This record gives sequence, C-alpha cells and structure tokens, in this order.
Amino acid sequence: MRTAEVKRRFLAHFEKNGHTVVPSAPLPAIDDPNLLFINAGMVQFVPYFLGQAEPPHSRAVSVQKCIRTPDIDEVGKTSRHGTFFQMNGNFSFGDYFKSQAIRFAWDLCTMPLDKGGYGMDPDRIWPTVYFEDDEAFDIWEREIGLPKERITRLGKGPNFWSMGIPGPCGPCSELFYDRGPQYGQAGGPAVDEDRYMEFWNLVFMQNIRGEGSGKEDYPILGDLPKKNIDTGMGLERMASILQGVDNLYEIDEVRPILDRATELTGVKYGVSKSQVAAESHPNDVRLRVIADHVRTGLMLIGDGVTPSNEGRGYVLRRILRRAVRAIRLLGFEEPAFPHLFPVARDCMAPSYPELESDYERISQYAYGEEEAFLSTLRAGTTILDTAVKEVKGEGGSELPGKRAFELHDTYGFPIDLTLEMAAEQGLTVDEKGFRALMTEQRQRAKADAASRKSAHADKSAYTSLLTENGPTDWVAYETLESEAK
Ligand code: ATP
Ligand code: MG
Ligand code: MG
Ligand code: MG
Repeated sequence: MRTAEVKRRFLAHFEKNGHTVVPSAPLPAIDDPNLLFINAGMVQFVPYFLGQAEPPHSRAVSVQKCIRTPDIDEVGKTSRHGTFFQMNGNFSFGDYFKSQAIRFAWDLCTMPLDKGGYGMDPDRIWPTVYFEDDEAFDIWEREIGLPKERITRLGKGPNFWSMGIPGPCGPCSELFYDRGPQYGQAGGPAVDEDRYMEFWNLVFMQNIRGEGSGKEDYPILGDLPKKNIDTGMGLERMASILQGVDNLYEIDEVRPILDRATELTGVKYGVSKSQVAAESHPNDVRLRVIADHVRTGLMLIGDGVTPSNEGRGYVLRRILRRAVRAIRLLGFEEPAFPHLFPVARDCMAPSYPELESDYERISQYAYGEEEAFLSTLRAGTTILDTAVKEVKGEGGSELPGKRAFELHDTYGFPIDLTLEMAAEQGLTVDEKGFRALMTEQRQRAKADAASRKSAHADKSAYTSLLTENGPTDWVAYETLESEAK
C-alpha cells in the first residue's frame, strides 16, 4: 500500500466517524517561541487543550508535517527515525475518550483491506499502557479481547504525557507492531524496541498538573473537567509495516532518493538487515541519511525556511551539509543535489503539489547551499589532511587547537566538521585550545572596534571592492553555534 493510500485511509476512517479534516500547519512553529518546528500533530491544537480558544469542532483529524532534530543521530541507524515525518492524528476536544479512542485505532489497524482498513494481523499488535492505568488495561483486555500477556504496563517516561508546564496531562497507550523473530527477541516492546516497533501513540488527557521543579515531580491536582484525546501515528512507520520493508527509508516516498544516491555513487545498498548489522555497515547508514536529509531539506525549504546562521535556517543548513558530507564519504564529489532533489520532489509532490510549482525557488536555495559548502570543503580538506599527516608523523593522536582554529578562521571550516573529519582519521581535536583561540580573537575584534569607533575610517576602498566583486558570503557559519555551547 502506497504511503498516500495509508494517509487517505486514515483520513477517511476518522472522517467517517465524525472528525473534521484539518490541514497540516506549516513546519516552522511560528506561534510558539519555545519551538523551532512543529514536532507533533497536536501542536496546532494546543490552545484548545489549554482552554485558551474554543475549538470549532469537537473532533478533528490531520496529517501533520513534523521535524524532530533531536532524532538526527538515530537516522539511518534505527529502522524508524526520520528528521522529517508525517504524523497522522485524531483528536477529541472534550468529546469521546479512552474506550472510543482505543476502539477507533484498533478498528483501523485490523479492518480488512477491502473494507478500508490496514488489514494488520491482530496477533502482531502489542499495546502498552501506563502502569497505573487499569482502565486502559481493561479496555484492551475486555473490550478488544487481547490476552493479558500482550499488554505491557510501562512507567512515566514513555507512557505519561505532559507539556512540561502546569496544565493538562495524562497517561498514554501505545501500539507496537511485532516485526518478527528476524528483528530480535520475543517478549514485547519492553524487551526489544527494534523487533516491536512503536507506530501509534494514544494520549488520554485526563488530569491537570501543577507547578513542579522539573518534568517529573509535579503534583497531579485532579481531573480535567473536559477530557481530550490526542493521538499520533507515524505515517512512514505504518507505510513501512504495510509495504513489508525493513525501515522507513525504504518506503515508496523515500526509497527512490536512496536508489538515486546508489546510482550516483555506485555503492551497493542493503548489506544489513537489522539495526545491529547496520552499525557495521556505515555505507547503508549514509545512504539512508542522504535520503532522509534530502527529503527534509526539500520540505523545509518548501515551507519557507532558508539556510542561514541561526535558528531554523541553521537547522536546515546543518541537515543539508550532513547530506553533502554523507555522499562525499561515499565517493561522490560533484554537486549531488541537482540529481537528488528532483527525485525527492517527485516522491512528495503528489501529496504536496506546491513542491512542484515552487521548485524553481526551492532548488535555487538547495543547489546554492551545496555549491557554497563544497567550495568550503574543497579548500579545507587538503589543509586538514596535511595537518593530520603531520600529527601522525610525529606519533601524536590529537590535532592541535591552533590547526582547528586556522581551518575555521581561514576556510570557514565549522568545528564540528573538523571534529568529525579528524575522528574519521583516528584523531581527536584539542577543542579547549581551539576555543581559547576563538575567545582571544573575539576580544581582539572587540578592542579593534572600540579603537576604530572615534576614527573616521576611509571606507572608499571597501566600496570599490564591493562594486567590483559584489557582496561576499560569510563562511564562518558555525561560529554562532560554537559560541552558544
Ligand atoms: P520513538 O520511541 O520510536 O522514538 P516516540 O515515542 O518519540 O517514538 P511519539 O512522540 O509518541 O514518538 O510520536 C507519535 C508517533 O510518531 C510515534 O508512535 C511514531 O509512529 C511517530 N514518530 C515519532 N518520531 C518519529 C520519527 N523521528 N520518525 C518517524 N516517525 C516518528
Ligand atoms: Mg522518540
Ligand atoms: Mg516511544
Ligand atoms: Mg511514543
């Protein structure tokens, strides 16, 4: 079943059951100063949950575009984490609650294919509940009819939801899919998260919490007067289950990008069949990273984010650069985005037609960013290689801070890149020394600026340079981030 069809069936199921279809909010979380990107379907409904606005309908369903940068290190290594993904969700604002929410989810999963469901084998679905939530346990056991052993009680971490502020909170029940013994140990989600893959989280917003000093020790003040339902099902995860593929980088919306990368590099994909094996096959991981990051870059630029040195633009820049680095590590040193982005566009445009009509603009940002980064890389790599040889020649194992600083200062080489590339050659970097030099340089710059303040500098030389060459790009992109650390 194609991903678009998985999505269509989700919307149809809930629409049939009285839910209003609400379009995805754009990826940048402009209404929330604490959030760069929307990371769950419920984000656009928060004012309803907090009682700050009246919902226009009591039931909603959506497919929300999400970004989760904290998952970036998992990408390609687990079978289930993307930096971009789509979250299908159904919501009840003071309308139906626990029993109905579980029933809706179960029905859609297990309803036969020809009846509009996903036709999943009921024996492979393993729900979890919050350990104190006997009500949810009983619904799974008595109303749905699952044997006790298939229902796992879990603690606060995975199965109690709160927004980190006083207000609504409550237990969750999650659905896991047993992918079979070839993926790991038997025994349920508490035993093996790779074999048993989480695909749907049902949040039962039933309590109200007070102030606490951290996320864990706040008091539950009582029950909410109007209870809510918030659910999130990973569209790509469900597609990977229904398409019978190993991981979400192999579904129809992502795999063509990966395949194009294998064509460009000549690297074979698919050596590994499990997470453990993946770690010993870095090329597979790199190919998945490329596919994931290119798609994420496309979706971010499509929603108006442009590469820059801070905030959202910086996240985009890092993601694009990681993709460029990964493909270079596979031996492809030419610009790759003009080959990869059109494939990603063709994968996603059926669901997001604006990607097609806006492609000219999107591609300009993407290709331009790759070009700029490639010239940075070309200049710096030779210098780095020479420095590495020098250190090794002297029997050392650490790149001096001075070298890292030169790379940064002269070639705009971000420190995280130096760290990564040095590590690939078995060296560490004297980061302390690097930072000391950075501080020194900043202080010098400050002093210079102060002494220049009163003088009337002759700017004509700069003006003529500017007219001759146009504005130059500032390449020391990563300064801001390393300063923030
Ligand atoms: P996991 O434990 O696998 O990291 P999660 O518990 O962080 O997932 P939730 O916050 O419960 O995920 O989000 C709801 C659903 O969204 C998940 O059940 C999953 O199907 C999907 N999802 C979450 N993170 C990702 C991701 N990085 N890539 C793809 N799908 C995701
Ligand atoms: Mg997670
Ligand atoms: Mg989880
Ligand atoms: Mg979860």
